Amino acid sequence: MSEDAVKLVEATQEHWRALETRFHHAYWDSQIEASPDHDRLRAELELEVSRAKGDRDLYRAVLDALDARPGDPELARSLEVLRLSLSGNQMDDDLRTQIVELSSAIESDFASFRPVLDGQRLSDNEIEEILTHSDDGELRRRAWGASKEIGTVVADRVRELARLRNEAARALGFPDYYRMSLDLQEIPEAWLFETMDGLDRLTAEPFRAWKGSLDDALAERFGTRELSPWHYSDPFFQLLPPQGGVSLDEFFPAADADRHALATFERWNVDLSDVIATSDLFPREHKCQHAFCIQMDRSKDVRILANIVPGERWVETMLHESGHAAYDMSIEGSLPYLLRRPAHTFTTEAMAIMSGRLVRDPRWLTEVAGIPEEHVAEIAGDLHAASAAQSLLFARWGLVMVYFERDLYNDPGGDLDARWWDLVERFQLVRKPRDRRGPDWAAKIHIAAAPVYYHNYLLGEMLASQLRAALERDCGNLIDASAAGPWLRERFFSPGASMPWDTLVERATGAPLSAADHAAYLSS
Ligand SMILES: [Zn+2]
Repeated sequence: MSEDAVKLVEATQEHWRALETRFHHAYWDSQIEASPDHDRLRAELELEVSRAKGDRDLYRAVLDALDARPGDPELARSLEVLRLSLSGNQMDDDLRTQIVELSSAIESDFASFRPVLDGQRLSDNEIEEILTHSDDGELRRRAWGASKEIGTVVADRVRELARLRNEAARALGFPDYYRMSLDLQEIPEAWLFETMDGLDRLTAEPFRAWKGSLDDALAERFGTRELSPWHYSDPFFQLLPPQGGVSLDEFFPAADADRHALATFERWNVDLSDVIATSDLFPREHKCQHAFCIQMDRSKDVRILANIVPGERWVETMLHESGHAAYDMSIEGSLPYLLRRPAHTFTTEAMAIMSGRLVRDPRWLTEVAGIPEEHVAEIAGDLHAASAAQSLLFARWGLVMVYFERDLYNDPGGDLDARWWDLVERFQLVRKPRDRRGPDWAAKIHIAAAPVYYHNYLLGEMLASQLRAALERDCGNLIDASAAGPWLRERFFSPGASMPWDTLVERATGAPLSAADHAAYLSS
């Protein structure tokens, strides 16, 4: 039996390795050079991957092999990882096609929709430009409203998509898609919401205090105490406003964020020069405007897509993506393909977040970025405050998303418009405008396109703080600790997905995931 199980795992991972590698190449090509051919190939392979993972006979064979309780831990974990990948894709082909078609139609509406303001079609960047700089309250109100119009365009279809996803989940015996997705991510629902409640308690008062002084400044700027959502500097109030932070742009006048990333990881004995060499790092026509890191073949072919221009933002982004890359590159190469990936979405997110935060670390700024000490000393206090404020603000926003998504799948036909504003008022302390009606929740692309994902950012934030504290305890100051690389490689990266995330976190940091170190970070 066990021999059959070994063969089953080997044959499946050989098939998936070939298919997923082809898909990753098609995906990469479609992102660095958008064209109808590239888009078509990417979509075809995406459906092919989903069909391969929907293979019923394979699913049953994996369940049988698990029932036989294989003694070898690597084999058992490989079968479990297979089961988790296969489960979410078990559905009849009709339902699969409906879900894929509906979600890609919604995504393409997001990509092409431009609200019209005073006769002009506006991009997201132009709306954010208005919300960052304009002092005209009326213009801000209309720009904010325009940014929400996409919600009305897609809301009914997002509800329908949630119903279809629920149908697939219920056929597998889950109460709804939300519960199924958490289960397949190996995240117990009760634990997650206890953790989120804890994060709520931890951040409520410091956030109230921080937002209080932001509101005082905004009240003065706009001449009213009646602040509305459009008085904040981005449509969802998730980013640190310029008046609450500190700009480092003047310190990064050149488009060389890749150099800073290389130098940072070099200090930890992690060589990213091959990654940088195969990456696509600078803006170009017909290229995706965002950033990501991709493991092409779960071997050493790891690439970053970025759009580096001068300034702080892309330095932070390159540090973030390089954190993902360092993780991917350092997973033990002798592990079987199925296990040669990060333990969890949020473990790799944690590494990336911890790396990205370095851009506001005074020691990193002087020692790695080479900014004169006296300049950094002048802003050191503001840097700490800005770092903590960004995490506070993001936590409050993330809580809205996490609680909302659970409600969405619990009752896709419910009064979601009201529920959304209840959560925004409770967690973000932003008041619903009088007479505001409409599906503002549906304007956030993640609700449709990255379902049941947002909690991973919040868990990643917590783990980033816990990782940094453990590294400082064991290796000394992180910036010049050459031991940090080997520590990360041996304790955190190399096991890949050979153990569940909770075992990995405890093994690496000496404690289960908790908010304790994050609390210290937020109040530093
Ligand atoms: Zn990331």
